[in-house]
Amino acid sequence: MQKIKVKSPIVEIDGDEMTRIMWKMVKDKLLLPYLDVNLAYYDLQLKNRDATDDKITLEAAEAIKTYGVGVKCATITPNKERMKEYNLKQEWPSPNGTIRAALDGTVFRAPILVKNIQPAVRSWKKPIHIGRHAYGDVYKNCEYRVPEAGKAELTFTNATGKELFRGTIQDFKGPGIIQGIHNTDKSISSFAKACFTYAYDQKLHVWFGAKDTISKTYDAQFRKIFEEEYQKNWKAKFEEAGLDYFFTLIDDAVARIMKAEGGMLWACKNYDGDVMSDMLGSAYGSLAMMTSVLVSPQGVYEFEASHGTIQKHYYKYLKGEKTSSNSMALIFAWTGCLRKRGELDKTPEVVEFAKKLEEAALETVESGVMTGDLMLVATSDPRNKQVTTEEFIAEVANNLQKKLA
Ligand code: NAP
Ligand code: MG
Repeated sequence: MQKIKVKSPIVEIDGDEMTRIMWKMVKDKLLLPYLDVNLAYYDLQLKNRDATDDKITLEAAEAIKTYGVGVKCATITPNKERMKEYNLKQEWPSPNGTIRAALDGTVFRAPILVKNIQPAVRSWKKPIHIGRHAYGDVYKNCEYRVPEAGKAELTFTNATGKELFRGTIQDFKGPGIIQGIHNTDKSISSFAKACFTYAYDQKLHVWFGAKDTISKTYDAQFRKIFEEEYQKNWKAKFEEAGLDYFFTLIDDAVARIMKAEGGMLWACKNYDGDVMSDMLGSAYGSLAMMTSVLVSPQGVYEFEASHGTIQKHYYKYLKGEKTSSNSMALIFAWTGCLRKRGELDKTPEVVEFAKKLEEAALETVESGVMTGDLMLVATSDPRNKQVTTEEFIAEVANNLQKKLA
């Protein structure tokens, strides 16, 4: 069979542990036999980040800017234990954080729906997409353990050295904690733009929740920027498409989501998005049934799985034990990337290949062939059969072959 030509390069970012093992299987069994593709390869496994003093991560981000589309495997964010395990020079920062900052991007997540897995929330009929603001707040904080009684203040001095603000955070009577967080109008505004762009493209309503009744300056600024962006650039288009923008308090948003049908993009501040996307992932079945894409305001895209490197399964794999890790999110990271590449290159055959691979993967699960994480949540059926990591990918490959024949 003639391979399908992918016109422009794709940035491939390799990662760690079990996802690295699955990454290779997915490439070898599902992609490379069918595609003639030029991959700009960046190996972000922890050893290599350490060896390159993390320069490889910045190079990967630059490559995504150059080529426009990338796909990333999960990577270890080092902590104290990992420092020892890998004998690292430093506790390198999260590669996802570095890449997000370099691309000033917003992360969008959506569930992968299959007929035989009912969401834990009965009312959810359509996917709920989440847009997570990927800059600032507690993820770029300045914090301090207050050791004893004393006064904590918030001050702002402008670029010419003039103090414009001083306010008391707390007069401590004893030990405690303080934290300073920030955001910028520029970043919030790109976040709002990215959300409306994504939602309009996917024909979704936009919901945004914040706590502006309590945080009358900080959260209120988010609300104001969203409202201005909507009024100025989207209201007319949205109304014409039968879509709307809805602001409510974050706690009210959470309560309403539980009773909603789905079909919206839920725009979340950084921390809300971190927490709520995991809740959604698990309510839809498994962390491995979530797609994730980072979209920059310049229109470059990085596709990834939203779960981590599945460390526990990797240790089993290293001992030669059988694993049953789910590769759906990794497969969908590749199909998302190929579809976008095909759209940008105007090569419908590449888009079509991505669609067929997705169908093959969905049909595999719907036929009852699934990994352990899904066995726990799938509608019970005598056909359901738990398979290993390798067997699952082999079955997707079988189904794909039939579709391409
Ligand atoms: P994790 O890799 O997401 O896995 C947590 C648990 O979720 C697993 O032990 C497994 O549960 C289940 N799970 C997740 N993905 C699965 C899949 N594809 N198939 C089947 N089960 C799956 O989180 P972690 O173990 O806490 O983190 C491991 C490493 O990943 C950390 O070093 C962290 O820094 C990194 N991380 C990277 C990213 C990223 O690069 N995007 C994101 C998050 C975390 P059972 O053990 O019960 O089977
Ligand atoms: Mg999270």
